[in-house]
Order: sequence, then structure tokens, then C-alpha cells
Amino acid sequence: MFGFSDKGNLNLITQALAAVGRKLEVIPDPTTVHFHLPNDLSVRIHREYDDFIEELVSKFPHEKEGIIKFYSECWKIFNSLNSLELKSLEEPIYLFGQFFKKPLECLTLAYYLPQNAGSIARKYIKDSGLLSFIDAECFIVSTVNALQTPMINASMVLCDRHFGGINYPVGGVGEIAKSLAKGLDDTEVRYFIGQMSQVSFWTMAKLVIFYLSQHCVGVKLSDGRKFYAKTVVSNATRWDTFGKLLKAENLPKEEENFQKAYVKAPSFLSIHMGVKADVLPPDTDCHHFVLEDDWTNLEKPYGSIFLSIPTVLDSSLAPEGHHILHIFTTSSIEDWEGLSRKDYEAKKELVAERIISRLEKTLFPGLKSSILFKEVGTPKTHRRYLARDSGTYGPMPRGTPKGLLGMPFNTTAIDGLYCVGDSCFPGQGVIAVAFSGVMCAHRVAADLGFEKKSDVLDSALLRLLGWLRTLA
Ligand SMILES: Cc1cc2nc3c(=O)[nH]c(=O)nc-3n(C[C@H](O)[C@H](O)[C@H](O)COP(=O)(O)OP(=O)(O)OC[C@H]3O[C@@H](n4cnc5c(N)ncnc54)[C@H](O)[C@@H]3O)c2cc1C
Repeated sequence: MFGFSDKGNLNLITQALAAVGRKLEVIPDPTTVHFHLPNDLSVRIHREYDDFIEELVSKFPHEKEGIIKFYSECWKIFNSLNSLELKSLEEPIYLFGQFFKKPLECLTLAYYLPQNAGSIARKYIKDSGLLSFIDAECFIVSTVNALQTPMINASMVLCDRHFGGINYPVGGVGEIAKSLAKGLDDTEVRYFIGQMSQVSFWTMAKLVIFYLSQHCVGVKLSDGRKFYAKTVVSNATRWDTFGKLLKAENLPKEEENFQKAYVKAPSFLSIHMGVKADVLPPDTDCHHFVLEDDWTNLEKPYGSIFLSIPTVLDSSLAPEGHHILHIFTTSSIEDWEGLSRKDYEAKKELVAERIISRLEKTLFPGLKSSILFKEVGTPKTHRRYLARDSGTYGPMPRGTPKGLLGMPFNTTAIDGLYCVGDSCFPGQGVIAVAFSGVMCAHRVAADLGFEKKSDVLDSALLRLLGWLRTLA
């Protein structure tokens, strides 16, 4: 899990929990991911940056200089981000303040805002196998190749894994939400946020909008309760917020433009399994990425396989002598629609069987006979349980984007309605989503009068940002 370190400014999960008086015990992961790639390329992303670079250089010795230059450029961006106090980029007083304190860092970020990782990698690296490896590095963040991955996103992830490192909460990632909810329920915190601090799980909400004034005034829950508020924050995807929670015919122009520039990334087929522990060789890493023999399959449905084995780090998650495997691969909802219940179940078994066979062949001989429990989820499962349109992983640029320039921030064309989450700047991944949450909280605080604000500067900045997005 990114964002869980105890240093720097990008450890936003640690900071969010601390803000409600909570701290989770975490287990450091020594290897972010173990890549198993075409031409028997095996690369471990070690927590120690120098170990990772040494391993990568040993696979591509002729590209030593290019490797160092590319990843150093990522560090330049990461260090700039990490030196700033992260708040809303839609809030001009904060933005000018940061600019005067750290002009070089702000200019660095502005320079890289419209750039993508693949173009920068190509400045330094010629080897097609190494460029494909960098595609895989980006794909696990964004589900697209490096040429389509904004350089700022890539740098956040490619460096934070070495700076703060990947750290797992004891008991699993579900502990984060539970701990946050507990913190919010704490009386001291409740005093600050008032009666609305009720945390309501599993209750779907719809927006209540005064269409005449284009003002959002609250939410209506599926159980009939209505909550009125000056501010409504939606972390449903942009397609759900503007299309389902708000009727599609009322789509603001900005959202139409967003939906032209970005398409929904595919969803995933997920397999959760409980297996006998002895099927895993000793020293098996927690995370794996498998693409067996053809780089052109990287972005194809079912082409690459992601595998996480959380029990490698936290054995308390499974009974003694057993491991949990979470296997997933990209898959589109269209592939699962229009099937009868029987055909749907049969197809799930068939696709899961093929994926498990591939893992058995590449990583764990005897895997099939070691399975004690298996559950398969499809894009329909993602759609149902996460309420995400088509079960999407989030936005994916329709063409080659101008870095992050086209991504919307938190304010929307509807007064009182803000968006957060992975279809807002800076995109997918826990660390990026936490950043969007922090940005949104700051903008809302300014709009509610808890932070300094200037209406004139606000409208000038919002107009400028809107214009910049049209260039993307
Ligand atoms: C299989 C998989 C593996 C991943 N692995 C990693 C990883 O290792 N590291 C990493 O950094 N990122 C990872 N990610 C990405 C990361 O999980 C997402 O980017 C992040 O969770 C997105 O957060 P979000 O808040 O935008 O959306 P979500 O996590 O989808 O949260 C939105 C929430 O809003 C709720 N909701 C939606 N509509 C409504 C409504 N109308 N009323 C009430 N509630 C509603 C949903 O139920 C949901 O709980 C992974 C994603 C997937 C799918």
C-alpha cells in the first residue's frame, strides 16, 4: 500500500489517519513487485532504490546510463512534489504561497504537467525490451503503456515505492476504512464535523440538485433518508456522478469534454483463492506481474496477470499452513453481458481455469491441486459491489494525452458539488486518490470560509484551468 510511510509529504494515508487520531501497525514490503516478462526477463522492484537499479542494469548493461537518467528524472519530479505542502491546486492563495516558497519545484512540476513517461524514457533509452519494461511499470499503475501515462503519475509511484516504501496494514487493507470510520466517530472529531459524521456503509446515494440554479443541495439515500448540505462530495466515478447521479441530459460542458478526452479503462476478472502453503517456493514475493511471451499482449484483455499473496507478509490473514492468492487480469464488461446464468458461471470457470493454468506453468507447479477455496469475480462483480460504471478501473486517455493537463480537479460546474477519486487529478491508485481527497478538502474548506480565499483570484484561476484543459 502506497502512502503509508512515516516521512515526507506524500504519506497521505498516514496523515489522513493521524488527522482523526489513528495509526495503523504496518508491515514493510521488501519487494513492490516481481516482474516475470517475455524472454525470461525477471526483475524484482526492491524497496532499496540502489538494489533495484543494480538489478535492472544487470539485465540491460548497455543501457546503464539511460536507466539512471530516466529514473533520476522521475526523482526530480517526486522530490519537487514531496517538498510541497500538498493542497488544492484550484486554490490561488495557496498556489501563489507555494510558488514564492518553492519556485523551482513549482516550475519543475508545471514543466512536466503536460508530459508522458514514454516520451521521456525514449530520450534516454533505445533498447525495445527495456522500453517495454517501462511500459509494464506504467501499465501496473494506469492500465495503459508509458506513452499514455502522465510523467507526474509515473514518478509518484516509481519513486515513492523506494522513498516511503510499500507498507501493509496488519489485518489487511480493510483496516484502513475501519480505522478511518472509527476516527471520524470519535467524539473529539465529531465535535468539529458535527452531526453529519455518521458513516453509512452500503447505502447508495443520489444527488439532490436544484436544477434552476444548478446548485447541489444534498443527497438522497436508497433507504429514503435525505441529507441536506452546503457541500456534497462524490467519489463515484465521473461517469457515475455525471450520467447516473445526475441525469445525462444535464451534463455540463466540462464533463462532456472530459468524456470526449477520456474513455473508461477496462475492468478486471478477479480470482480469490485459498491454497496449501507448500505450493509456494520459499522466499516467494508478495506481488507478481506475469506476461509470458509476447509484449504485444501487455494491454490486451487477459494478456497480463497480476498476483498478490498478502499472507506472505501477514500470515494472520489465513489459517496456519495456507495462503491467500488474489489473481486479476484486465477484462471488459462487454465480454460478460448477454449470457444466461448457466453460461456466465461456465465462462467464469473456463477463464479462471486458463489463468490458473498459466500461473501453474510459469510460477507454481502443482497450483491447481493445492486449491482449497476459489471465488471468481467479473467486471459485473466490480460494477455491482463498487458501483463503478462498467466496473471500470477509471479514466484512460482516448489518444496520447498531454500529461495530466486534461484531468479535472475537484470543483464541478454544479455549485456545491465536488468530485474526488480516481477520475479526478491525478488519477488512479491509492496515493493519487488520497491526494485528490486532500486537495478537495482544502478547496471545500476555502469555499466554506475555513481557509483564506479570494473570489476574484478564484474565478480567474478556475477560468485559466478550464482553458488549459481545452488544450489537452
Ligand atoms: C483489482 C484492483 C487492484 C488494485 N491494486 C492497487 C494497488 O495495489 N495499489 C494502488 O495504489 N491502487 C490499486 N488499485 C487502484 C485503487 O484501488 C483505486 O484507484 C482506488 O480505490 C480508487 O478510489 P476511489 O475512491 O476513486 O474509488 P472507489 O475505491 O471505487 O470508491 C468509491 C466508493 O464510492 C461508493 N459509491 C459509489 N457510488 C455510490 C453511491 N451512489 N452512493 C454511495 N456510495 C457510492 C462505492 O461503493 C465505493 O466504495 C487497484 C484497483 C483494482 C480494481
